Amino acid sequence: MKFSFLGGAEEVGMAGILFDLPEYRFLLDYGFTPGKPPSFPKESPNIDFCLLTHAHVDHSGLIPWLSSARGPRIFATTMTQSITEILARDNLKVSKLEGYSLPFSEGDVASLRNYFEPIEYGEKFELGEIDVRGYSSGHIPGSTMFEINNGSRTLITGDMNTVDSMLVDGVKPIRCDNLFIESTYAGREHPNREELVKEFRDDVSDTIKRGGVAVIPAFAVARSQEVAMMLESLGVDVYLDGMSKRIATTFLSDGKFLRSVSKLKKALSQVKFVNNDSHRKKLLKNGGAVITTSGMLDGGPALFYIKHIKDDEKNSIFLTGYQVEGTNGRRLLDTGMIELDGDIGKPKCNVKFFDFSAHADHRALVKFIDECSPKNVVLYHGDKRELLAKDLSNYNVLLPKDGENYEIA
Ligand SMILES: [Zn+2]
Ligand SMILES: [Zn+2]
Repeated sequence: MKFSFLGGAEEVGMAGILFDLPEYRFLLDYGFTPGKPPSFPKESPNIDFCLLTHAHVDHSGLIPWLSSARGPRIFATTMTQSITEILARDNLKVSKLEGYSLPFSEGDVASLRNYFEPIEYGEKFELGEIDVRGYSSGHIPGSTMFEINNGSRTLITGDMNTVDSMLVDGVKPIRCDNLFIESTYAGREHPNREELVKEFRDDVSDTIKRGGVAVIPAFAVARSQEVAMMLESLGVDVYLDGMSKRIATTFLSDGKFLRSVSKLKKALSQVKFVNNDSHRKKLLKNGGAVITTSGMLDGGPALFYIKHIKDDEKNSIFLTGYQVEGTNGRRLLDTGMIELDGDIGKPKCNVKFFDFSAHADHRALVKFIDECSPKNVVLYHGDKRELLAKDLSNYNVLLPKDGENYEIA
């Protein structure tokens, strides 16, 4: 099997793996790394089809370009299709606001559905001599790990989580010959999830009891809705702002991708949706917890709130997700400084990070690999892959670089 990475081998971002089989050339994911401006992978050549693991922008961001420029069939769950479309429209909106251009148009997004083909978890679909199956990867609703059979069995995880989250069950291992596995958390372990949720609830509650506002930046897809579930029945006012409202409705419209429709419904019934600045100002005055985009503080209503709350010690900013290198959120974590309207300064309010990851940690990755028992392991989507490779001496491990060609037997 020949393959190369158009991007995303050595970093958490802009995924795109090009596979060259004797009969077919296909792409797995095609995204960009958000930023001002974003970073793009290498241009995709003509392909026969594309497998799309999930809707996060670093995996799906360039799918509208791919469909209009190359016209392949794109296989993904219906949930991934819906969210990819929503995010693509939002990306265009943000690019106009920020003054950079993206290589696709509204029209390209509108015609995406002509290229999408739905897949069902566990059901085989045949592409000539090869057959393919998708399984839940436990990362977000609709996220998929692909198994490809063409004589040998190859498993490509996409972003994956082995632990059950409030929204989806953890991924299950599958025996294979070749395993392509994400490595976001190579070298790091997550804290105990239950204890962390308890600590988070206590911290939100404390902030509000002392008369403060808790601003909770969270990714629009999955993290925001999960945080709303974590804060259920806390007895404080919880608000949801930004694109997460739309995503929550999309999750509920296709309930088979959720662990529990009723639990998400219940949590959302206790949340107030925020739609405009006057509502935002009112909630800042009254206090409460607001879950808001963007999760990495590179735009969205989160910055509006932070501008208003940052200079008062009784308020809090609670970061809830992975902060990519180069983002405003990463700067806040690493240096305590934040950029607002071009000025960089240190907020006086309480700032805390909660590691609510949707990715398997180091220990879970090693266990998953052992249970898949492959011959070849290809580590990608990580910037500390060598730390994981050290624990994989039983396997032929590859740490590919973007743009280079590889072959595994
Ligand atoms: Zn993801
Ligand atoms: Zn990713």
